Amino acid sequence: MKSTCTHLLLLFVVFISACSPKGPYALTNKFYKDKTKDFTETIKQELPATLTDSSGMAIPSEFVGTVNFGIRKPNFVIIHFTAQDSVQQTLKTFTVTTTQTSAHYVIAKNGKVFHMVNDYLRANHAGLGKWGSVTDMNSCSIGIEIDNNSQERFTDQQINSLLILLAQLKKAYNIPQANFIGHQDFAPKRKPDPGPLFPWKTLAQHGFGFWSDDLLELPPENFDYTIALKLIGYDTSDLNAAVVAFKRHFVQTDITPQLTQLDLNVLYNVYVKYSGQ
Ligand SMILES: [Zn+2]
Repeated sequence: MKSTCTHLLLLFVVFISACSPKGPYALTNKFYKDKTKDFTETIKQELPATLTDSSGMAIPSEFVGTVNFGIRKPNFVIIHFTAQDSVQQTLKTFTVTTTQTSAHYVIAKNGKVFHMVNDYLRANHAGLGKWGSVTDMNSCSIGIEIDNNSQERFTDQQINSLLILLAQLKKAYNIPQANFIGHQDFAPKRKPDPGPLFPWKTLAQHGFGFWSDDLLELPPENFDYTIALKLIGYDTSDLNAAVVAFKRHFVQTDITPQLTQLDLNVLYNVYVKYSGQ
């Protein structure tokens, strides 16, 4: 009986919070607003540099505000799958501090787009990794999470919404075609997303990232696949992980760490596209 009462009370609380005029995320929205206010205070600071020489003497310094400046813009888009069972679960994950993770956008299976972090702010989505010489990817990218349990196909509604969102981001921030990549590409040693089911070919047809041509040439005799992977952007410090990440993105039919002749042809073709950037 006591347990039934507790359940009823819990149901009541859930019902009230879901029906509150401000919605179930009223508290976390307030948290977000307060935090952005703190950041506003940070960028308003007009502090001179505090530098000291090797003997500890202060180096003269003064703040003089310029009249020519702007706000920094994202230059990459990183695509993820959530590997969770529902978009509600992901919204929850990104609105509790214990997880320390977030993304700018989450796209639900029905195509609904949740915007969770302003594009000019830093979301915690990419973590440790390396693409070319970029290591702090969170500071220069937009993170997009797609609701997907990692084993299923992405829905048409999700891809439609994604393409519209990407077009807007590409235009707003002038993001180069080469800079639309997956989490797996940035962090091959740690991350498998968005995986081999993700339609990179469709994205490339719309100008987001690259895909190999239908007709492939053999690479030249002296073709070095490690250098090619590196020049595309992959961290080759774990070569097998880099090959698997490349195949998850550009081959997709098999994701073993071996490069077949077909894989090498694809790699050469994609490498030429990246080098032409
Ligand atoms: Zn991810």
